[in-house]
Amino acid sequence: MELFFGTGNDGKLRELRRLVAGLPVVVVTPAALPGGLPEVVEDGASFLENAEKKARAFASASGRVALADDSGLCVDALDGAPGIFSARWSEDELPGPLPRGERDLRNNQKLLAALAGQPKELRGAAYLAVLCLAAPDGTILASVEGRCRGRIGRAPRGEGGFGYDPLFVAEGRALTMAELPPSEKDALSHRGAAFRELRPVLERLAALDEARENR
Ligand code: IMP
Repeated sequence: MELFFGTGNDGKLRELRRLVAGLPVVVVTPAALPGGLPEVVEDGASFLENAEKKARAFASASGRVALADDSGLCVDALDGAPGIFSARWSEDELPGPLPRGERDLRNNQKLLAALAGQPKELRGAAYLAVLCLAAPDGTILASVEGRCRGRIGRAPRGEGGFGYDPLFVAEGRALTMAELPPSEKDALSHRGAAFRELRPVLERLAALDEARENR
């Protein structure tokens, strides 16, 4: 079965590729779309609304079952911010959009500044991810959520992962997500947890697809 991964975020794409490994699916990326990934305005009030909106748009544009990921970081001491605004949090104060790498760097600086002087016990946070699968006719086939509790470190550490990973230390760990080997991030992460819920749905869809082709 062909599965379209609707994301322009290389970090998410790498993780989702690892997570589907072993499933009978062929991953199709936005690079295969002549017009590229359609622009979707993420104006939903929740991760779920945004994930569903993206999945529908990507399935329709690609003509395939599409997987969308809407995710972010929710910090306890900031009343859940940046939440659904995680990707562009540091752009609030700027006149225009930034390249992704610079945006991640500024997001992390803003987070460190917002928690400056806070002790470890007030640095709690959670990563959240909603993964949504949609069919080309707009039907939502599945929406699943994953969470990962942790805390925000005092300085960025590590080269792996993406986004807030150099600052995020998962519960019970000492290393940041960016310091962990990819397989360990997948085992702990919000995206990994959501994907484990989605896996049986993808297996069923792939089996149905194969049965259809053999008919
Ligand atoms: P989205 O494209 O609106 O879903 O933006 C997700 C944003 O949340 C990313 O750009 C990151 O800033 C943050 N984020 C989501 N998942 C992760 C993760 O696994 N590691 C680090 N940052 C993440």
